[in-house]
Amino acid sequence: MWLNAVIWFVLGLVVGSFLNVVIYRIPRKIKLHDPSRSFCPHCGATIAWYDNIPLLSYLILKGRCRNCGDPISPGYPLVELLTALGFMAGGLVFDTLGALFNALVVASLVVLTFIDLETLTIPDTSVIIVLIAGLMWNVLKGEPWYLHLLTGAVVLVLAYLLAFFSKGLGMGDVKLLGAMGVLLGAYGTLFAVLVASIVGSIVALYLLARKRVNMKTKIPFGPFLALGTFVSLYLSERFFALLGGS
Ligand SMILES: [Zn+2]
Repeated sequence: MWLNAVIWFVLGLVVGSFLNVVIYRIPRKIKLHDPSRSFCPHCGATIAWYDNIPLLSYLILKGRCRNCGDPISPGYPLVELLTALGFMAGGLVFDTLGALFNALVVASLVVLTFIDLETLTIPDTSVIIVLIAGLMWNVLKGEPWYLHLLTGAVVLVLAYLLAFFSKGLGMGDVKLLGAMGVLLGAYGTLFAVLVASIVGSIVALYLLARKRVNMKTKIPFGPFLALGTFVSLYLSERFFALLGGS
């Protein structure tokens, strides 16, 4: 079991390193495969393979580019660490097939989180991957997938109405909520939205108190929905079992 966890962790580090490329290049419309090597966003120097080892290189270089000495964003090792931990959790909790779908979902959540933080938009591709992975996972688990599809459709309409009347939600959030409905089902989505709203409110109040934002600042909701989705995947059944007293 621990070997399994270590393998998924290392795989998560490697995939996380690739997700950094995706997160940096998609909003800038740079092709994913061209240039094929990673480069320093400050000086443009190509990064040698030994300076591109997930997590370790950041620590060895003390967070600075070897060529120009410019600080490397701590977002890079954070993406690698979060992906690795997310993959590892799946390896510990689910069977191999489940861990594989978990990895797809985690990778999409990490990408949309960091792109939403930077650009306040959620890429459709990551929402579609959550949707398809969610549907296939539920089909293979023998869950009533048609109920999940129905949930997704209902959540999509409700979120759209909420976005239309309140302006608090963006269209990316609406689509993501629909995909969450398919992945998590009704209870799971409810739990995810609860977690997202509570954590989102706490963070917003903290940022307001520290005067880092004001009432007009747009705070992306995607990262909180992503967190809620992940937590819900693991804990929503236990949460409702506790509520039901069983
Ligand atoms: Zn540099």
